[in-house]
Amino acid sequence: MSPVRVRFAPSPTGFFHIGSARTALFNWLYARHTGGTFILRIEDTDKERNSDEFLRVIYDSLAWLGMNWDEGPRVGANGGGDFGPYRQSERAHIYREYLEKLRAAGRTYEKDGATWFKLLGERHTVFDEHRKKEVEKVKTAPMVIDDAIRGRVERVEDEDFVIFRSDGNPVFHFVNVVDDIAMKITHVIRGEDHLSNTSKHVALFEAFGVKPPVFAHIPLILKQNGPGKMSKRDQGALIEEYQRRGYLPEAVVNFITLLGWNPGGDREKMPIEEIVRLFDLPAVNQSNARFDDKKMAHMNMLYLLALPPAEFTAKARAYFEARKVATGGADDAYFEAVMALAQPKIKGIEELPAYTAYFWGEDYPTDEKAKAKALAKGEPKARLAELIEALRSPAADFASDTALEALIKSLAEARGLGFGDYQGVARIAVTGLSAGPSLTSILRLLGRERVLARLERFVATL
Ligand code: GLU
Repeated sequence: MSPVRVRFAPSPTGFFHIGSARTALFNWLYARHTGGTFILRIEDTDKERNSDEFLRVIYDSLAWLGMNWDEGPRVGANGGGDFGPYRQSERAHIYREYLEKLRAAGRTYEKDGATWFKLLGERHTVFDEHRKKEVEKVKTAPMVIDDAIRGRVERVEDEDFVIFRSDGNPVFHFVNVVDDIAMKITHVIRGEDHLSNTSKHVALFEAFGVKPPVFAHIPLILKQNGPGKMSKRDQGALIEEYQRRGYLPEAVVNFITLLGWNPGGDREKMPIEEIVRLFDLPAVNQSNARFDDKKMAHMNMLYLLALPPAEFTAKARAYFEARKVATGGADDAYFEAVMALAQPKIKGIEELPAYTAYFWGEDYPTDEKAKAKALAKGEPKARLAELIEALRSPAADFASDTALEALIKSLAEARGLGFGDYQGVARIAVTGLSAGPSLTSILRLLGRERVLARLERFVATL
């Protein structure tokens, strides 16, 4: 067997979405699993629909997800291999050369200014009801495709098709096959929406006298709600969006891997080395996968929880800086201490600014509904007064969670009350929220002065 050469061949005609990322990922995983070569080929022959912005997003998203390519644009001077250039817009001379081969073999003809590919077989004309016109049909044997995921697929290709348009530009089917031949691609791993093109492609391979690569068509990703294929317009479809929202790329990759593949059993969170080791084409599901944004968020949370605190803090800092979230000049130690409280509690980096707002200054919002609820029971004013008095005492040790907890507990016990009678109202007074990290940790981090000022300010409004 020759070494595996696979390619990801995006067209820069739209934003990079989950479906593209999965196709890229399955190619990348297969290359890494087999020790083969992963090639990035840009299919940019559609001059009207291509854009540099879409191209940039492809490069950035692949880089962010950690899918490095061995050959392709931006790899060394010649694209890292002997098969460049890797953008179809720069390969016109190669397409001409291959067209000449087909012409010499008698497999083309001109009609309506375009160049057509000629199938072999007996011809006859029929009236096509659907297209409302006469079409020429060619009697051909069914094409058998031994798909590495779908198994045996049979398709009939019985009409000649255009390979060069009248404007002189080659058609997708032609350039796609020519490049797979010229780049010595061994496995074509792509979305199932291309299965209907594959018989055309096989016919072209045969006309060039080249054995077709192994095809592996990946089932669709279905919309989260409702029927049909997920589109780039669906919520959660765009990879850049995850990057912007502070998702961890490792989590996104892990989640996408599971859209159509699993290692057996119920293992889900797996290091990439493990996925590379276990990944194989026959294990890709034949049935469609359904997108699930809650599952994605959950996977991200598992990865966030597992991060070493210093890394979590660094990601949070970067996110705050990118979003220009003010932290009142918090120094590194304080910022890190706040993040240590938040890390086990949040589901995503994007929750951090709201979750930690009261740590950065006095101008934090209050959840009015939660406030009304906290004030509705017991005697909140009396509890706060007692708390203020106790916390003002030099005996209150603000360096220790346990000491603060013991202090509030003894306050409660002395009056036949519970910790909760102080906690709810103190929390709303000091943070503006009804939930968050442990109250005593918050008191410790804010420090005596700020806590007392907040409690007093709050009591004054009652
Ligand atoms: N440019 C095609 C696409 O973006 C690639 C098809 C293929 O992988 O063969 O869908």
